[in-house]
Amino acid sequence: MSLPSGQELRITEATLRTVVKDIFRSAGSNERECDLVADHLVEANLKGHDSHGVGMIPAYIASLKAKELTLNHAPRVVNDIGGALVLDGGLGLGQTIAFDAMVMGIERAKKTGSAIVALSNSHHIGRIGHWAEQCAREGLVSIHFVNVIADPVVAPFGGKVPKLVTNPIAIGIPRREAEPVIVDFATSKLAHGKIRVAYNKGVPVPDGTLIDAAGRPTNDPAAMFEAPTGAILPFGEHKGWTLAFACEALAGALTGGHAMKGPVTQKAIINNMLSIIVSPDALGTQATYLSELESFVHWAQLPVEGQSPTVLLPGDPERATKAERLAHGIPVDRNTWLQITAAGASVGVSEAVLAAYAG
Ligand code: NAD
Repeated sequence: MSLPSGQELRITEATLRTVVKDIFRSAGSNERECDLVADHLVEANLKGHDSHGVGMIPAYIASLKAKELTLNHAPRVVNDIGGALVLDGGLGLGQTIAFDAMVMGIERAKKTGSAIVALSNSHHIGRIGHWAEQCAREGLVSIHFVNVIADPVVAPFGGKVPKLVTNPIAIGIPRREAEPVIVDFATSKLAHGKIRVAYNKGVPVPDGTLIDAAGRPTNDPAAMFEAPTGAILPFGEHKGWTLAFACEALAGALTGGHAMKGPVTQKAIINNMLSIIVSPDALGTQATYLSELESFVHWAQLPVEGQSPTVLLPGDPERATKAERLAHGIPVDRNTWLQITAAGASVGVSEAVLAAYAG
């Protein structure tokens, strides 16, 4: 691989999709799964969340090789009580499992007005906003609580050692004749993958993000990747911790999955997700919902003298990044590219083919 040290590649969306599909096809995914995983990972990169983009491929391939990830798997219905579906992901590829779970939830919400989807035991389901967007495309409001079963990396508020992971929450809010508002964040100060990206790039993380193994504040991302390791702090002090706790309760426990209870032995990143999907149309509040929402957006964004730039809505930064990256390509740092190339080679994709994609 001839990429000079420190260089960042710019790869087009189409090429990156081809890379993802080549690797997963070679690993054993069918064409539908190749499309779903490429859609998801490349969209995360386009939206600026490189932590959940193609840089996850090496972790997914490691899970596959450890026999902790099943390709071409569908969620199993454990219980169907009409208003709620309980599903077991069976460690299937999260991009397929969560997509299929949302298809089932969307169908149910359209029929009955609302649906709860309690999904447990899926392999990593990536950028949670992706699932809120899937619901919003159908005109449905959705709320998603997720917990993560993996090596603990986040310390509770007031704690000094990691006890949980970065438990994300997403909310999808469709609008009238405008792109949906997508609220989507980790309950930790930074997503773990963003610390990995900083580590790969050799740059510090912002103040207040990490503590080292002795519980002292640090800006060095190596604190999460080189022993003895420290912890990420929750965002918003006690408030982030309370939401992270809610994710353990709702996604980990209520779905019938698992909450964190100690160090893990598996390589795989496992997600459980509780989704609440609501049809404003079926509630009979559609007209009010849409007009009140637009009134609030108008009011929140009214120009104020001396205030610049304009107030953004959740989802706006991702849309702006996507427009820029569609025009100029997706940046992939050297270390991430080398890791992807190695993962591809390990499932039989020629390194020469991958190097050619990198130009
Ligand atoms: P983040 O801190 O970048 O926050 C993103 C949210 O804030 C988005 O809704 C965005 O639109 C909004 N936002 C950002 N700037 C804004 C502004 N100026 N005005 C208005 N809104 C603004 O996100 P994060 O915490 O780093 O999470 C990144 C991704 O990681 C998410 O997609 C999340 O789902 C994902 N994640 C997944 C897992 C998992 O286990 N699958 C775990 C953790 C995080």
